[in-house]
Amino acid sequence: MFGDVVMGMDHESFEHEFSIVKKKHGVKLDTDLSAEGLKEVCDRYKKAYRKHVGEEFPQDPTKQLTLAVEAVFKSWNTSRAKSYRQINDITGLTGTAVNVQAMVFGNMGRSSGTGVAFTRNPSTGVDKFFGEFLIDAQGEDVVAGIRTPKPVSQMTRWNKRIFNELLKIKKILEKHYRDMQDIEFTIERDKLWMLQTRTGKRTAAAAVKMAVDMVKSRLITRDEALLRIPAGDLVQLLLPSFTAKSKKGVTMLTKGLPASPGASTGTLAFSAEDAVARSEAGENVLLVRKETSPEDIDGMHHAVGILTSTGGMTSHAAVVARGWGKCCVAGASDLHINAARKSVTIHGKTYGENDVLSIDGGTGEVMLGKVERHEPKLSGDFETIMKWADQKRRMKVRTNADTPKDAKRARGFGAEGIGLTRTEHMFFEGDRILAMRQMILAETKELREEALARLMPYQKDDFVGIFTAMKGCPVTVRLLDPPLHEFLPHDAAGQKEVAKAMGIKVATVKRRVQQLHEFNPMLGHRGCRLAVTYPEILVMQVTAIVQAMITCKKKRIDAKPEIMIPLVGIQEELKTLRKLVADTIKAVMKKERYKGKLNIPIGTMIEIPRAAIVSEQIAEDADFFSFGTNDLTQLTYGFSRDDINSFLPHYLDDAILERDPFQTIDVDGVGALVKRGVEGGRQTKKGLKIGICGEHGGDPKSVEFCNSVGLDYVSCSPFRVPTARLAAAQAELR
Ligand code: PEP
Ligand code: MG
Repeated sequence: MFGDVVMGMDHESFEHEFSIVKKKHGVKLDTDLSAEGLKEVCDRYKKAYRKHVGEEFPQDPTKQLTLAVEAVFKSWNTSRAKSYRQINDITGLTGTAVNVQAMVFGNMGRSSGTGVAFTRNPSTGVDKFFGEFLIDAQGEDVVAGIRTPKPVSQMTRWNKRIFNELLKIKKILEKHYRDMQDIEFTIERDKLWMLQTRTGKRTAAAAVKMAVDMVKSRLITRDEALLRIPAGDLVQLLLPSFTAKSKKGVTMLTKGLPASPGASTGTLAFSAEDAVARSEAGENVLLVRKETSPEDIDGMHHAVGILTSTGGMTSHAAVVARGWGKCCVAGASDLHINAARKSVTIHGKTYGENDVLSIDGGTGEVMLGKVERHEPKLSGDFETIMKWADQKRRMKVRTNADTPKDAKRARGFGAEGIGLTRTEHMFFEGDRILAMRQMILAETKELREEALARLMPYQKDDFVGIFTAMKGCPVTVRLLDPPLHEFLPHDAAGQKEVAKAMGIKVATVKRRVQQLHEFNPMLGHRGCRLAVTYPEILVMQVTAIVQAMITCKKKRIDAKPEIMIPLVGIQEELKTLRKLVADTIKAVMKKERYKGKLNIPIGTMIEIPRAAIVSEQIAEDADFFSFGTNDLTQLTYGFSRDDINSFLPHYLDDAILERDPFQTIDVDGVGALVKRGVEGGRQTKKGLKIGICGEHGGDPKSVEFCNSVGLDYVSCSPFRVPTARLAAAQAELR
């Protein structure tokens, strides 16, 4: 450990020396080696140390201790420590402390041992003592996954008295800390010593079950239960899994330990660096390692799943993966990994980087090829937590959805409306893109209207589908937002294809693409500016919305559309377009001879800093506000949301930024604008309905901020709806 952790030697070089001596003495287990053999190991270790470090292994314990303490301090700034802090959102700390602690020995013969345990099952939450131990070993042997330990349930065969003592301690600790504990213990010559206890990491499923169970047994209150579940982790429960049916006929390669639930399929990466590089290039990779260490953190985070050949349920890979809700199979001992050759051999067959495997973190199965995944089924405990959360929260939770399928799914997750339908997503499918391109390429208003007339039925059908899926709930439809050139082909082959399909000259397509070129499209001809210059686009979209609403009403479907105008920064923009929307609504009703009343609120996004600053004026023409914090962040920082990754990692590494402002709202800057927008808006219109539909709407910390400034609702992607429901309740409780 000293050579490895303090002096940066490769752990393998010690393992290598140990194996040579074991082989020479004809023994298999480390513990079977005689004193003679151990002396040889020591000599070889010292030689290896001298070769690597360039000096003798220090014999003075004070020097050893000093170097070890320094190593801990230095470890704070290693890249893996930085990655770990970033991934787990640990911010605002200046450094680490070091405790120097006298230890007992677990490796003093057969009456000694060591173990790691959880007071409840950290994967499932079941209230049963869960852990592993090794006889005649040190704690590091369990955690590092070098030897495969035995489950604690087998401890009774070895030392029943110690096992019962541990059960007693489990009860005392849970009662005192009122939470599940992760404990480490050592037995030195029949005497049990507790080394440490801390609140245990757990999967989301376990967190939910434990919280509900602890309320039932009166260990904690409902409010505490709600506060205890990391809202962001709920996404894990909605993750797909493999079913028995989908596994039928699949080649089962081997089985390891079900270390962290989930279902993953991917090609194989044999190093953390490889996993990072390939997943950043868009590949789904499984990280395949003998065992993992904190060095692999980044690779583990990037991989879709983790597979190891040694290590138990409490090994590094297992604990870290569970904390993240990442699928992990550990200790699959049939795997013979050759990391240098980038291959793994299982029962005589070798698989390389390009082979696809599937792993089931719930059963430990390792399968060849891709296995179909299935949607998860939510437990009764999950529903209970959601019910308690709904009773506590003030804010509503809506979803961002562009299709009836997504809308339906989000409703199933508890969405109370749609906060953002990005209509542009509807223009890419099938023949629609052709009509869309025709509309953009049109050089006269007449030609543009002709193309728009072809797009309208598609839009109308989409809206009928969405309104039906969300019946009774509000659906905010945003009018066309992105720059038009996003819909056009930019390469020669694509332009040729469009010209052919439309029966026009390639040169015409090329010229129009060039005309539409913008140096800064995100700051260019997009959002409400499109409707100002091409009002016929707005008219078509509003017509489709109103017709869809009338169709639904006739079928007694309670459609509740709200029309939202994007990227407004000037009151006049909104005033002009609002009038056009209102006139169009009237015109369609007249044309359809609809005699009833249609209530369609007309509002705007607040996503340009100026709009937030002049929100008193903007509110005069808005029935509601919705903060588009993606653009608002982009424009407040002047960071392009599409290019930030070229410098963000440096900003995070150098602590210039604590976190990515596109994920968690920047309270001081962007947040101040949101606050200003809310105050100004409500100064003009008391009780103005205000929500958020940027990505931040599903981020727990941002949800808390939204609650604090009095927003009426947050809107987020379907899978984050339960997270937002819980986060909104937690915000109230805090
Ligand atoms: C926003 O800007 O926050 C938003 C929701 O709109 P989009 O992401 O589509 O620009
Ligand atoms: Mg936007």
